[in-house]
Amino acid sequence: MYTKNGNTEDILWDVLVIGAGNAGLCAAITAAEAGCSVLVLEAAPPDMRGGNTRHTRNLRATHDAPTDVLIESYSVAEYFDDLMRVTKGVTNQELATLTLEKSAELTRWLGTRGVRFQPALSGTLNLGRTNAFFLGGGRTMLNSLCRHAINCGVEFLYQTPVQEMQLEDGFCEGVLLEDGRRFRAKKTIATSGGFEANLDWLSEGWGNAAQNFLIRGTPYNKGVVLKSLLARGVKSIGDVDQCHAVAIDARAPQFDGGIASRIDAVPFSVVLNKNGERFYDEGEDFWPKRYAIWGRLVAGQPDQIAYAIVDAHGLTRFMPSVFTPIKDDTIAGLAGQLGLDPAKMQATIAGFNKACPEGPIDQQILDGKKTAGLSPNKTNWAAPIASPPFYGFPLRPGITFTYMGVEVNARAQMLMEDGRPAANLYAAGEIMAGNILGQGYLAGIGMTIGSVFGRIAGEEAARALNRGLK
Ligand SMILES: Cc1cc2nc3c(=O)[nH]c(=O)nc-3n(C[C@H](O)[C@H](O)[C@H](O)COP(=O)(O)OP(=O)(O)OC[C@H]3O[C@@H](n4cnc5c(N)ncnc54)[C@H](O)[C@@H]3O)c2cc1C
Repeated sequence: MYTKNGNTEDILWDVLVIGAGNAGLCAAITAAEAGCSVLVLEAAPPDMRGGNTRHTRNLRATHDAPTDVLIESYSVAEYFDDLMRVTKGVTNQELATLTLEKSAELTRWLGTRGVRFQPALSGTLNLGRTNAFFLGGGRTMLNSLCRHAINCGVEFLYQTPVQEMQLEDGFCEGVLLEDGRRFRAKKTIATSGGFEANLDWLSEGWGNAAQNFLIRGTPYNKGVVLKSLLARGVKSIGDVDQCHAVAIDARAPQFDGGIASRIDAVPFSVVLNKNGERFYDEGEDFWPKRYAIWGRLVAGQPDQIAYAIVDAHGLTRFMPSVFTPIKDDTIAGLAGQLGLDPAKMQATIAGFNKACPEGPIDQQILDGKKTAGLSPNKTNWAAPIASPPFYGFPLRPGITFTYMGVEVNARAQMLMEDGRPAANLYAAGEIMAGNILGQGYLAGIGMTIGSVFGRIAGEEAARALNRGLK
């Protein structure tokens, strides 16, 4: 039991882990396997445990030769190049290299702890080479890790949001809960995610626009632990407005819509803002390479809303969405239903149609079928929106996770503002992902960062306590 005589402070745990997502579980399991007593404090109730990890599908891992779950090979050098391309070099290269090198161990490490993977994916995305997919998705993956953690003796407390980190000169003396309870441990590992569910904090980077953002994941990642750490001298990394943001269906719930709210219509549509105007090249590149810029693009539009418009032909060209599109037999009728000015929308669509080239488009390739004379032009797959019925998908920015967090070293130790490592504090997962992701995103690297640094944090905490690692 976690209390003696009803007093939580009577117990000095070896390791306290804050947050029961992927990073927290990897840390807790590693420390417990090494013989540490481990307590995990989780803000959510048991059925909501696992934060954003519940929504995931895969992780990105390097490998020299085909494995049971990944085809061909994916070298550290190639992974590194991919990361440099998306982050434009805004990354700590030492930590990035460490993460990519250690990613090679992950499918086996997770597999021997109950996580099962799908056979390598086939299809046009070419992810079967780079990304290992969890059988049953992130929730099943998470449940497997929880089961293993319990078998290792890890204790969990749910609905226990940590409110305050008690730090004295880089030493964590304890953590306080909202209800006043206090927990103490020799080593504390913060794995409490980013601050994406805190719209007021997002507003510091985005202004009032943030109030119109939808949050794709858990409502519990409010950044309370992060804020408390930064207020007590832990060094921050990353910019407050850097995050992974995609355009999702505007009818998605405020939180936790997950991947069900995705809309893949953009490349085969015209996207209008609330003034009925186009604002970006919808056909710039294949959707998997462009979906992650559209959250920011929509965030830059008036009232942070946009509308992807397709006709009957366009609708057949992408994966059907969970939210059914708004449908009408005429452009003017659709404008009325979407709340747009019918005359303006008709004029924009007519102008677009006139600028489209002759002949069919080919969505399998960058077909170069582009509009002429528009600003901006659509540079691939430009086909008239002319065959009724017409369909509209309202879009809003959907925030996946934030990048600003705590700075760490290669031992997952948090660094203080003067550059010293904190005495007994470690971090893993979203809360430190900004060390590697200064900007941009590479599909599957969120889980890789959490697993690699979760394991390092658990190992380092155990090592510092002279516990043996298996
Ligand atoms: C829709 C969606 C799809 C995604 N798909 C992928 C994917 O396929 N592959 C990939 O690599 N990444 C994906 N990601 C990103 C991925 O979810 C994260 O990178 C990863 O799950 C982060 O793990 P974590 O353990 O750091 O955080 P989380 O899994 O979010 O866990 C943080 C935990 O901390 C708890 N917590 C927060 N505050 C407190 C507090 N004060 N006290 C106690 N507990 C607290 C939360 O309740 C939560 O359980 C996706 C994200 C979303 C939203």
